[in-house]
Amino acid sequence: MSEQHWRRVGLPAALLIVPLLVVAVSTSEPGDASEVTAAAPALDPANPFAAPSSLPYQLPPFDRIHDGDFMPAFTAGMAEQLREVQAITSNPEPASFENTSLALEKTGRLLGRVGRTFNSLNASHGSEVTQKIEADMAPLLAAHSDAINLDVALFKRIDDLYQRRSSLGLDAESLALLERQHLDMVRAGAMLPEAAKAQLRLYNTQISTLASQFGQNLLKEAREGGVVIDQLSELDGLSAAQIATAAEAAKAHGMPGKWLLPLQNTTTQPVLSQLRNRALRERIYQASVSRASSGATNNLPVLLQLSKLRAERAQLLGYASHAAYTLENESAGTPAAVEAMLKQLAGPTRAALLRETAAIRRLIAQQAARTHTRPFEPRAWDWDFYAEQVRKARYDFNEEEVKPYFELNRVLEDGVFYAAHELFGLTFKERKDLPVYGPDVGVYEVFDADGSPLALFYTDYFARDYKNGGAWMSNFVEQSQLYGLRPIVINNVNIDKPAAGQPVLLSFDEVRTLFHEFGHALHGMLSNVNYESLAGANTTRDFVEFPSQYNEMWAREPVVLAHYARHYQTGAPLPPALLQRILAAQNFNQGYATAEKITAAAIDMAFHQLGLQQVPAPGEVAAFERQSMKSLGLDLDAVPPRYHAAYFRHVFADEYSAGYYAYLWSEVLARDTGQWLHEHGGLTRANGQILRDKVLSRGRTRSPQQLFQDFYGRAPDAGPLLEYHGLKTSAAPKVNAAPKAQAAPKSDKH
Ligand SMILES: [Zn+2]
Repeated sequence: MSEQHWRRVGLPAALLIVPLLVVAVSTSEPGDASEVTAAAPALDPANPFAAPSSLPYQLPPFDRIHDGDFMPAFTAGMAEQLREVQAITSNPEPASFENTSLALEKTGRLLGRVGRTFNSLNASHGSEVTQKIEADMAPLLAAHSDAINLDVALFKRIDDLYQRRSSLGLDAESLALLERQHLDMVRAGAMLPEAAKAQLRLYNTQISTLASQFGQNLLKEAREGGVVIDQLSELDGLSAAQIATAAEAAKAHGMPGKWLLPLQNTTTQPVLSQLRNRALRERIYQASVSRASSGATNNLPVLLQLSKLRAERAQLLGYASHAAYTLENESAGTPAAVEAMLKQLAGPTRAALLRETAAIRRLIAQQAARTHTRPFEPRAWDWDFYAEQVRKARYDFNEEEVKPYFELNRVLEDGVFYAAHELFGLTFKERKDLPVYGPDVGVYEVFDADGSPLALFYTDYFARDYKNGGAWMSNFVEQSQLYGLRPIVINNVNIDKPAAGQPVLLSFDEVRTLFHEFGHALHGMLSNVNYESLAGANTTRDFVEFPSQYNEMWAREPVVLAHYARHYQTGAPLPPALLQRILAAQNFNQGYATAEKITAAAIDMAFHQLGLQQVPAPGEVAAFERQSMKSLGLDLDAVPPRYHAAYFRHVFADEYSAGYYAYLWSEVLARDTGQWLHEHGGLTRANGQILRDKVLSRGRTRSPQQLFQDFYGRAPDAGPLLEYHGLKTSAAPKVNAAPKAQAAPKSDKH
């Protein structure tokens, strides 16, 4: 679940007041801010970014965009924004909301256009060329962001307005914009003395460059890594379709006659649940955990230097650690609050893990007795394989039995879209006439309940080389009343593309991913605010996963399942008995699934609470990680963290540093909401309207704490999450329930 993430389009929010480019990938030297000047040449009018697109919804003209267009547009976009900022600061009039705060919001439109488009294309449909552009741009954009955030004259005007904010007569959203701008500049160092600002600029470019290098090493690993198999017999346990896919992958990488199993970015690998060959399982697992830990793609020195620089930067800004700095701007508030939440979840999770481990040990012992071999202690590469067998024994189904009922288009149109129709009255019309950037990309126009156009929704669901791992949502265009813009949103997922002519059949996990990402998409599409910087999913990290995680619940809602889960050949509905088993099985293995997220979050927090003198050496990283797991009682050999540091892209390349906990934090909100929705009738237009009015339309025009408080009139409660995953002690008997237990819930566990 936590593999999917929403991808922020922009540099780290705390260091940014304008929408820019995602943290980029770079191996070059830090750039020099003086390379960007307001006097850069004007952009060639033929450049596709030179003017707002004339296509519907200001859709980027994908058919006219070439790699050579990006750099000139970035350069001109930065120059344009600097000129716009200079116009604000050189205004002889005293600061007013219109001539300063609103004017600042309106800067950087060209840069926003090219940045959003480039970022999305580079993440999902990139190349060596776009990676080079990303690498070259990263330090320049970091410096550009600093040039604005640390502009003394600009801060003086913003600060002047901020001090007078209560007497300006601003509407609530405009006040939120001003407060946001002020806070971002303060947190970016605007109040530091000049010498400290220079040091801060240096840190920012160094950090940006290292984060880029970290991500680029992982992409290289993903492209060139993977496990090669010589003998077909070793693949015993995989389906014919999976074997065909592995053969094609090997062929595509110049190894005809062999099989290639690519590595997903998580520690554990999906095929481990199927492969009978224990030695191959161990080989795959070892390949996974040793990724990016030696040789040319060694991320250990990179991440240690990153941790050190982040600690130094935090100290310069007056914070005890990078985590303290980061969390101040989140709904969690402090590292202590995060640790308390992790501890609250860790106890019940450990208890569930011990029950799950015992069941696996029993199974191994039974099989050993039957075959007269010695039983062994389950290791990390065994867990999924035996857990899958325990699940089969208890719930009597496997993914291959289920997949024919989850055909991609059917899941999307009759499941994901259907739920959105029932909740919000939305309708969807496929558009074949609009430009796309690749053959596997789909486009839908989304209409509101009254038939008025609302948004464009793009889909890009297949894995490919040069595509980032995981799943994410981003915007090509942000909603904004100020500009009269409707949003264009895209969902990216990494489903293995089947061999030509085969249907696209999903696992239930992938089905849930589609619903999850669409929850983010709804956050973007239903946004209804004035200012694009406060629109849609531009909110705190520990709130942004809230709409996506409760949207997952519809994947297993019986009325929705009945609508989309039909056999791709016969059209027969998913048999009720199988459905009951799928739903009952949802709580299976949740100790493991929750533990791997908690331990990943603990590792993230450990690296980002380091003081200056405490950064471990590369050889100490494993022990350092282990200690953070041990402190929560979750240092079990068979249960690895979802990510080890060397391939923890979220926190060292993307923007989730001291932020991985956010998945658990927002899941607490989401499960609380799921329980509320079920208590109030489930999938109804009335509930949809409440979600839309209180959360989805509001972006960041209010703080997340306020939004949640408005919704409930109370603070969030972790109980429903523990209950949802069957982790409450009272739910223990269900874990051991017989296969046909009548206790299977009608819908969720609510
Ligand atoms: Zn997400």
